[in-house]
Amino acid sequence: MTLHGQTAIVTGAAAGIGLAVAARLAAAGARVHCVDVSPALADAVKELSGAVPVQADLTDRAATHRLVHDIAERDGRLDVVVNVAGITQDAFLHKMTDEQWDAVLAVNLTAVFTVTRAAVQILRAQGGGRIVTISSASWLGNLGQGNYAAAKAGVVGLTLTAARELGRFGGTANVICPGFIDTAMTRAMPPDLQQAQVAKTWLGRAGEPDDVAKVVEYLAGDGAAFVTGEVVNVGGGYRI
Ligand code: NAD
Repeated sequence: MTLHGQTAIVTGAAAGIGLAVAARLAAAGARVHCVDVSPALADAVKELSGAVPVQADLTDRAATHRLVHDIAERDGRLDVVVNVAGITQDAFLHKMTDEQWDAVLAVNLTAVFTVTRAAVQILRAQGGGRIVTISSASWLGNLGQGNYAAAKAGVVGLTLTAARELGRFGGTANVICPGFIDTAMTRAMPPDLQQAQVAKTWLGRAGEPDDVAKVVEYLAGDGAAFVTGEVVNVGGGYRI
């Protein structure tokens, strides 16, 4: 129970990586506010002790700002914030519409800014806390993912800025770049593309959501007290 008595916020917690993160932090003893737009949220987290479902659309900037501050006010603290929610709307650049660009940037970058800004306000005043943001291997660019790659590169810069600005208040901020993880997002890809992604790993398999959640738990816990401003690849060796 390494996070006993702590308050956490996990976005995108209704499914996939976010749900696995919520489960890990709840099992570690945190009270986990699980934020997701999906109507399946309450059902998804009902078995997790200490999980509080908060159905909300993170692209509503004012509501999202309030939501983070309300949680901190009600619990009297905020210890861990994990930005997981994300979407894809893939198209090659020459065909990408303004709507596809705007939709992906709104969830994957602007909403992360809104949550992170509110979190930084609280963590500065409180004197510490942890931010973990899920970027992606695609932050270095990926065919058909110009919008997604731009957003995922953006959150790296945003989160490493948070690490610099929070440091003297005792807070940390780190980024995780998952490789190919078996979730609804990747199961929507054509099977041959999925196999090609697995072939890029040196462990010869897709990642499980819990492979990412374990690293989030580490970054949120005491073992990572002196770890900040890191970009951690969790992808079975796809970078080597
Ligand atoms: P997923 O589709 O299973 O889960 C994403 C969750 O985000 C969903 O529950 C969805 O409802 C929620 N969400 C989407 N828009 C939202 C909004 N406006 N407000 C609130 N919640 C919203 O996807 P996943 O594979 O678990 O991905 C989680 C994160 O990990 C994403 O940021 C994704 O980009 C990133 N990622 C995934 C992989 C992978 O291989 N699956 C690889 C690298 C990075």
